[in-house]
Amino acid sequence: NSNIQRLPSHLKAKIPTGSSFAAIKKDLRGLGLHTVCEEARCPNIGECWGGGKDGVEGKRGATATIMLMGDTCTRGCRFCSIKTSRTPPPLDPHEPENTAEAISRWGLGYIVLTSVDRDDLADGGAKHIAETISKIKQKAPHILVEALTPDFGGSEEQVKHVALSGLDVFAHNVETVERCTPFVRDRRANFEQSLRVLEYAKRVSTEQGKELITKTSIMLGVGEEEDEVVEALRRLREAQVDVVTFGQYMRPTKRHMKVTRYVTPAEFDTWRLKAEQMGFLYVASGPLVRSSYKAGEFFLENVLK
Ligand code: SF4
Ligand code: SF4
Repeated sequence: NSNIQRLPSHLKAKIPTGSSFAAIKKDLRGLGLHTVCEEARCPNIGECWGGGKDGVEGKRGATATIMLMGDTCTRGCRFCSIKTSRTPPPLDPHEPENTAEAISRWGLGYIVLTSVDRDDLADGGAKHIAETISKIKQKAPHILVEALTPDFGGSEEQVKHVALSGLDVFAHNVETVERCTPFVRDRRANFEQSLRVLEYAKRVSTEQGKELITKTSIMLGVGEEEDEVVEALRRLREAQVDVVTFGQYMRPTKRHMKVTRYVTPAEFDTWRLKAEQMGFLYVASGPLVRSSYKAGEFFLENVLK
């Protein structure tokens, strides 16, 4: 459609192909699981699910992002294409087991679990997420697990369930700079609360002797100013966040907030260098980079060897 044709050429990606892609897709259908890769129509799906830089299959860096707790969120962030309802269907009690079973079959080296926000549940779904992680680790201890979590309303108790479940990488997205947060994220979210969630996950896991890597993502093109991004990075480092990713915000439909500008690939490179200089362990930055973009390749090759 005309909307897509106006996109700069650096925002186009290859069409997914290959057998690991097909196998994962089939399994997901059978088990009623959802992936963000598909729901958000992520342009990187061929590369991520296929595993290597050139889409070479079978590499241990292959990554997929599974979405837990259904396809309906209790929040309504203005950039997000996930469905919203105050009363989503109840959790599937078999989901932790089914997810772990499927994942252990796929031969992936790295899995990202994410979820909708479930403010309707007393614990925000923290126990459900934690149970899924520990089941994956029981069945396939070699698979590294990243969880991209809700903010759990800032509850330390709930963050702790997830952080101490056997997890390797704790991710929670601030999404944007502090000033833009009220326009971009649901009103129940706030920058400071998200920082505290990340900081607490690092602290509690370190205290328990298994220090987690912590990670966040920032979308560019939602109205942020350069100095505000620098300030956000400074505070993230202060909260000991290890990894940051930068990507271009793309408007899912006309009902979602507008893109304020398309950031050039050169500017993304500048942000990567800047964040590296500020002490982040790893930075992914580019127009098509998403929170989980090729996470497995990086972590397996560089950090968690
Ligand atoms: Fe899936 Fe994330 Fe890769 Fe997109 S970047 S295909 S959402 S794992
Ligand atoms: Fe989307 Fe997450 Fe916001 Fe829910 S909380 S609307 S899934 S970004």
